[in-house]
Amino acid sequence: KMNKDKIELNGVNYIWPVKPVVVICIDGGDQEYYESGVQDGIIPNIENFMKNGFYSIAQGSMPSFTCPNNMSIVTGSEPKIHGISGNYYLDKITGEPVVMTGPELLRSVSIMTKFSQKGATVVSITAKDKLRKQLQKGMDLSGGSVSFSSQYVEKCTLTENGIENTLDFVGIPKPDMYSAELSLFVLEAGIKLLKERRPNILYLSLTDFIQHSHAPGSPVANQFYSDMDECFGRLQELDAVVALIADHGMGDKADENGDPNVIWLQDILNQELGSGLTKVICPITDAFVGHHGSLGGFVRIYITGEISHEAIIDVTENLHGIERVYLAEEVSKDLELPLDREADVAVIADKKTVIGGSEEDHDLSALKGERLRTHGSLHEAHIPFVISEPLNNEYQDKAGEKKLRSHQIFDFAINGTI
Ligand code: ZN
Ligand code: ZN
Repeated sequence: KMNKDKIELNGVNYIWPVKPVVVICIDGGDQEYYESGVQDGIIPNIENFMKNGFYSIAQGSMPSFTCPNNMSIVTGSEPKIHGISGNYYLDKITGEPVVMTGPELLRSVSIMTKFSQKGATVVSITAKDKLRKQLQKGMDLSGGSVSFSSQYVEKCTLTENGIENTLDFVGIPKPDMYSAELSLFVLEAGIKLLKERRPNILYLSLTDFIQHSHAPGSPVANQFYSDMDECFGRLQELDAVVALIADHGMGDKADENGDPNVIWLQDILNQELGSGLTKVICPITDAFVGHHGSLGGFVRIYITGEISHEAIIDVTENLHGIERVYLAEEVSKDLELPLDREADVAVIADKKTVIGGSEEDHDLSALKGERLRTHGSLHEAHIPFVISEPLNNEYQDKAGEKKLRSHQIFDFAINGTI
């Protein structure tokens, strides 16, 4: 049944992996966590990969949010190709804001899916269930392949997930939705499956709950990185290629008093242009709003009344804290986004600022007075790209030619290490 040919997806050929390849997406895995982890001596395995394997800083997809970047990583392409340009968008036909997690919105399938269709055993585990259906779109679960989330681990069935009684199988209790354990569970389940089923490819995608609330070098962040590092060491010991990527970085967005630097863009537009003419959509929005109050560094403005693009640009582009304002065609071209899913205007904040809609629509109580840490801007689109093994000559050359993209991690981990 196994057809050990190479597979092709979005213009890239992937050879049949010689040994298991594990790609881990550390959600919000800013490079500063590695820098301070190395300094504090708490991530010896990652440090070993960086020294004796391969390490570079890569360019992630924009906007620097979870859904677009996970899909870029697993499809080896940019949002322009795979279609996922936010966590949340405005359906132009119904006028309703909707989450962007439906598999029908994904215009590709994942590398794991492609391999599963050729008879490979693949594993896809995500902390947040919102990613799961897109990750496993078209996946053949009949040959031992598995796809589930730690968020809904107790609901796994053989038909939907390729595995049942998963809590018993992994042997640790179900983690809380807002916890470091939600991510560590993903890694433990991956280790167990690697041991028992020796799949060809594993994709383990974590959550950024810790990074949103704990700065690099803080005790909680260090504990989380040290726990993850220990898991990465165990994966390598099981004779797998271990590749570490991030969907985006994480930045501090508070001022000297500890208050978030927020531009309430809908309020400003209503005040300057009139109510009901524009709709600001914050594409960071997801079910985990406790992390960030739906505040990020990138928003889209839809025209809903009689107002010109120029009038919107005049109001937005000189606001303090705004880095770039784009028309749809420009943002689609510059940032490789699907034009048919763009709004009329896209607005990107600077390194220290976030953009919201109307102040009354954002609940910041979950911040509990902590400094706001979040992502979405160009500044969180630089992410560490680490592989446990050195690259072959061809891929060393490829890495030196131009800036790496996060969507190349599977290509490098599969094709670049033999
Ligand atoms: Zn994320
Ligand atoms: Zn986040």
